[in-house]
This record gives sequence, structure tokens and C-alpha cells, in this order.
Amino acid sequence: MTPFIAKLIWWGGIVGWYVIRYPHQRRSRKTPITSRRERVRERVLLAISFTGLFIVPVIYVTTGEPRFAGYPLHPVPAWLGTLVFAFSLLLFYRTHRDLGRFWSVTLEIRQTHCLVTTGVYRRVRHPMYAAFFLWAIAQALLLPNWIAGLAGLVGFGTLFGFRVRSEERMMEATFGDAYRAYAARTWRMVPGVF
Ligand code: SAH
Repeated sequence: MTPFIAKLIWWGGIVGWYVIRYPHQRRSRKTPITSRRERVRERVLLAISFTGLFIVPVIYVTTGEPRFAGYPLHPVPAWLGTLVFAFSLLLFYRTHRDLGRFWSVTLEIRQTHCLVTTGVYRRVRHPMYAAFFLWAIAQALLLPNWIAGLAGLVGFGTLFGFRVRSEERMMEATFGDAYRAYAARTWRMVPGVF
């Protein structure tokens, strides 16, 4: 494993992510929205997350900057990062498949919105966010640069930290007891841990 190959793998992950999301993004535009929450705050959080998971690493991968934060690539973490990226894409694919047209990039309730509690949603409430965290971990393992590598964890961690409670409150306000019962029998992201 060379730094060049690690960067190519990172690009491959980004392309895979886009290919999985694109059809859902198109389809979701056709499903009307009935309510929205915290629109401006959500846009700011998305921009922070996008900067950490895409803008900062893309600058590093294309220019090598910021050079002062670089360190030599070690093959073991890089191969581990490849595996984690592959697993995150698989999980991301399954979350989109299970959530179907109820997916939104921000906090929104769509027409005829149903509570999904099956598939990857059976034991955890936020498997898509788990997939994003795995992407951020893969980025840290694949890119040998303290700033570009860790930017994804900081960026997505910020979005998750500010969003997760608001999202659960929105789901509870929409689905009431059904969501409370679902929340009582599931974990946020990692079964048995969190
Ligand atoms: N937090 C989830 C979903 C992320 S997409 C995850 O990590 O997998 C965010 C949107 O999904 C929210 O706006 C909400 O409308 C919708 N959503 C979240 N959980 C849902 C569920 N269990 N069933 C149906 N829609 C859900």
C-alpha cells in the first residue's frame, strides 16, 4: 500500500457513496414534505460535515496540503481503513434501501411518512449515521495527515452531536407512543454499547 493507492481508495469510497445516494436524492425530491425542523441550523451543520468529510480531504488528496500535519503511511491502518470504508458503504446502501422514500438530508417529515423499524433499523435507530462515522474512521485510517484524516470525525461528529436529539424529538412528536416504544427497545448506533 502506497500513499497514492490509499488516496485512490479514498476516492473510490467517495464515488461509491455518491452512486448509492444519487437515486435516493432524485426520488426524495418527488415525495412532498409536510414538516421541517431547524432549517438554518441544519444547513450550517451539513456544511460543517461536508467540509470535514469532503472539502478538507479533497484538498489534501489533490495538493498534499497541509503538509506540516503529514506523517508516513503505514500499510496496516491503511488496509484496515479500506475494510472499514467497504463496510460503511454496505451499511449505507442498506440504510437507504430500508428507509426508502422517507429519507431526508435534513430533519423533515414526508407525506405518508411511516416509522421504519425493520432491516438495519430493527436494533439501532441511527444506522445511517453509524455508516457516516465509519466513513470518517476510514478517512482517518487512509489519509496520513492529522488534519485531513481527522477532519471527518470532527465534521460529522459536530453534525451528529447537535442533530440526534432534535431528530428523536421530531420522530417522537410525529409517531408518539410508537416511537417511544421503538426507542425503548433499540440502541442509538451500536447494539449493546450506545
Ligand atoms: N437517523 C437515521 C436517519 C437519517 S436520515 C439514521 O441514521 O439511519 C434523516 C431523516 O430520516 C429524518 O429527517 C427522518 O424524517 C427520517 N427518519 C429517521 N429515522 C426514521 C425511522 N426509523 N423511520 C422513518 N423515518 C426515519
